[in-house]
Amino acid sequence: MSLIDPRTAMLLAGVMSGLMSLVLYALKRNYPVSIKGLGEWSAALLMLFIGGLLVSARGTLPDFITISVSAFLLWSGLYLAYVGSQRFFGVAPRPRPWLALITGVLLIQIWFNLVEPNYHVRMVLTTLMTSCLAGVHAHLIIKQRPVTFARALAIGVLLFLTTIQLMRLAGSYTFSFPRDSEFFDASTLNLIYITGFTFSVLLFSISTLLMAAERLHAELEHLATHDSLTQALTRRQMDQACRDELERCRRHGRSMALLMMDLDHFKAVNDSYGHQAGDRVLVNFVTQVNTLLRQPDQLGRFGGEEFMLLLPETSLEEAILVAERIRATCAVDDQAPSCTVSIGVTTNRRDTDTVDTLLARADAAMYRAKANGRNRVESG
Ligand code: GH3
Ligand code: MG
Ligand code: MG
Repeated sequence: MSLIDPRTAMLLAGVMSGLMSLVLYALKRNYPVSIKGLGEWSAALLMLFIGGLLVSARGTLPDFITISVSAFLLWSGLYLAYVGSQRFFGVAPRPRPWLALITGVLLIQIWFNLVEPNYHVRMVLTTLMTSCLAGVHAHLIIKQRPVTFARALAIGVLLFLTTIQLMRLAGSYTFSFPRDSEFFDASTLNLIYITGFTFSVLLFSISTLLMAAERLHAELEHLATHDSLTQALTRRQMDQACRDELERCRRHGRSMALLMMDLDHFKAVNDSYGHQAGDRVLVNFVTQVNTLLRQPDQLGRFGGEEFMLLLPETSLEEAILVAERIRATCAVDDQAPSCTVSIGVTTNRRDTDTVDTLLARADAAMYRAKANGRNRVESG
């Protein structure tokens, strides 16, 4: 006698999906709208909830409902979960071929339910559809970078789901499962198959919660470390980055460069074209500078129209070249309104250098560039 019979396992799967659906719905209401897919995941679990209830009502309700309607809810639910992940990862869903596939397979399933009842054919259809939907879903998440704990969990669960479906299918041909055994057959293998599905649904919904939490964390961290207008790093973040780099330089005897950049006559841009145009110039400046940088370089907004740039492992000569390239790019920008830039460059020299002494030297060099006519690079 098993501890749990297949019908109870199926009912549990349904109830758990229902509860997780509610949790995801609550998250959708409370999380920022920029986190997509929560609504689809919640709806998918609702469909699995109703589907699970219908399956476990086998014998009480008509077969059309407990076998065909429940299969429709199961496949649509799994598809909707996939759409949720597509939306979460910013991939445009293409529902038509999938809906056509689900409808087509469903019609065949209805035939083998009502017209020519055949459990084996229906089981083949269900295992193929489920493994296909879970497999495609796993593939979508495998492609995403970086691989986080929550994503690895989702991938693991979906691959497990795919595998138990394919094993169930193979089992029906190797006589581990009698071909005409029914869905609620109480054999151990069948129980593993059904409980496997139950746990997959539960763990998948937990992985969606964790993926959403990871995304929220990343978004909050981005907000805390990036300037909302230009997306350059905040001053606090730059302070930290400079302090870390100075420490590395001290340990390894390396050189780092710090650039202070101030847009020329920026007030005149605001006065002539308005603040919004001024904002666009700032955003444009950051975009242009970013195209000239290497991966480890860090660009931050010091405040207003002043930016600072940290160049790790860079000598003064190399840093002046970078500064010249930035200055020249801004000077030839023919978008109206545009702005030239004055840049002060410095590097770490003494062991006693701190972020403040570096900043003071870069700032003094930048003011010299202003005094010497603007649209210039000075070093110090
Ligand atoms: P200089 O060549 O000497 O640097 O002259 P400037 O006009 O660039 O310098 P000033 O310090 O006189 O003016 C800076 C202006 O930048 C004043 C301020 O209104 C504007 N500003 C600061 N932050 C923002 C912002 O976020 N958006 C816009 N549109 N303007 C800003
Ligand atoms: Mg200024
Ligand atoms: Mg200025």
